[in-house]
Amino acid sequence: MNYKKVTIVGSGVLGSQIAFQSAFFGFEVSVYDINEDAITKAKQRMATLKTTYGEYFQDVDRAEKASNSLKFYSDLGEATKDADLVIEAVPERIEIKQNFYEKLGKVAPENTVFASNSSTLLPSQFAEFTGRPEKFLALHFANSIWQNNTAEVMGHPGTDRQYVEQVADFARNIGMIPFVLKKEQPGYILNSLLVPFLSAAMELWVKDIADPQTIDKNWMVSTGSPRGPFAIYDIVGMETPYNLNLMRAEHDPGAKLVAEKIKCEMIDQGKMGVSTGEGFYKY
Ligand code: NAD
Repeated sequence: MNYKKVTIVGSGVLGSQIAFQSAFFGFEVSVYDINEDAITKAKQRMATLKTTYGEYFQDVDRAEKASNSLKFYSDLGEATKDADLVIEAVPERIEIKQNFYEKLGKVAPENTVFASNSSTLLPSQFAEFTGRPEKFLALHFANSIWQNNTAEVMGHPGTDRQYVEQVADFARNIGMIPFVLKKEQPGYILNSLLVPFLSAAMELWVKDIADPQTIDKNWMVSTGSPRGPFAIYDIVGMETPYNLNLMRAEHDPGAKLVAEKIKCEMIDQGKMGVSTGEGFYKY
């Protein structure tokens, strides 16, 4: 089945990008968020994305058309009426997502497929709340999706394979390269590789084995990779690794040291990465 109408739920950083990308590739897109305040913010994000897409694809008219085609709702029933696919991008909190799927399962048409963009949670944690576990799976995008155009497609044990294939086709039709996982895996493929890699680099720095530039250069020359782990940290920003290590600090003294070092040497100095013009490198 070819999808035509998609509803994006949660119009924050990622939701707004998924909505714009889908509209840019010709889909009928409805955007849902919790209230008028959030919708106003969504419209501001879309205005920025219109400029980004116009420049990136060198097609201002197409970006304008995509922007004009977006419909916004703060009523979930209206937003999902006739939807072939709902993509959820609400905050990464279990109880928010569970409550949301309970509501969605009741108001969305029976044939609508649900996909979660969650980065760290598994579809099996929500399947029973959707009321249609066989039509539920994960569709995970990377930030700046017009450029970093990967889409990881991952079902839970109860997902019917036909929907995995349909959602992978949809991803292809909005200009993504789909990667279908055979089984559930926290962190999908990319973060299963990237997170341990970045953590190992941080450990080398915290133990003062070598400085970040030396670690990066070793990696780049040895593997032919265009950038090393600390250049990647600059793109991700310091907030995420700081929060992750702070969360682990209670049980893990090593993580506490990492959080402290990121705070003292980076965050307190305003070195947040590419976004502030300086991180481990200057931009
Ligand atoms: P965000 O905080 O920028 O946006 C969340 C949006 O959800 C907001 O617009 C908020 O108003 C809305 N919202 C809050 N509660 C809601 C509810 N009950 N129902 C509907 N909408 C609600 O978050 P984000 O960074 O876009 O992340 C959203 C999801 O995407 C998370 O699961 C995250 O793991 C995933 N993700 C994020 C990134 C990233 O780089 N930011 C990358 C890949 C995946």
